[in-house]
Amino acid sequence: MMKYCDQCGSDKIEKIVPSGDNKPRLVCKSCETIHYRNPKIVAGVLPIYGDKVLLCKRSIEPCVGMWNVPSGYLENKESVEEGAAREVWEEALGKVELIGTHSVYSIARISQVYIHFLGNLVDGKFGVGEESLDCQLFSEEEIPWDNIAFTSSTFTLKRYFADRKAGLQQTHLGNYPEVE
Ligand SMILES: [Zn+2]
Repeated sequence: MMKYCDQCGSDKIEKIVPSGDNKPRLVCKSCETIHYRNPKIVAGVLPIYGDKVLLCKRSIEPCVGMWNVPSGYLENKESVEEGAAREVWEEALGKVELIGTHSVYSIARISQVYIHFLGNLVDGKFGVGEESLDCQLFSEEEIPWDNIAFTSSTFTLKRYFADRKAGLQQTHLGNYPEVE
């Protein structure tokens, strides 16, 4: 809950339905700013090298020690492509050339949207970034399916390998919880 208005510093913040709106918002009674809260974008890339993909073992909560498609919150004034590539650098010290949009995965319940691209891992080079305990290339058979951090990563990985077998490259829309 916001305590002070980030526009004027006042603590006169109330939750009301502004005129012309239909949902309660936090409104500053001093400067009349309406503080909208909208869903967050999580941007990431599934880096590909040969027949393998790069995953990162998380060093931070939530899901410490579990593997993840490198992804993170988009920053302000950053494009989703820039944010996705930045995350690969921060988590795995790898550079990627984006190939295309692979999955758009909504978790409406917690107001998050994951956008995962496919990208070629440049020269197959990577390290271990600060947010990771380890980073590794995995073939499909080697993926630690029981130790994947987020459903968005599982969604992205399963569809990537299925598409590859079928010779397809497409964008998948997903929602959590998934309905089979
Ligand atoms: Zn204010």
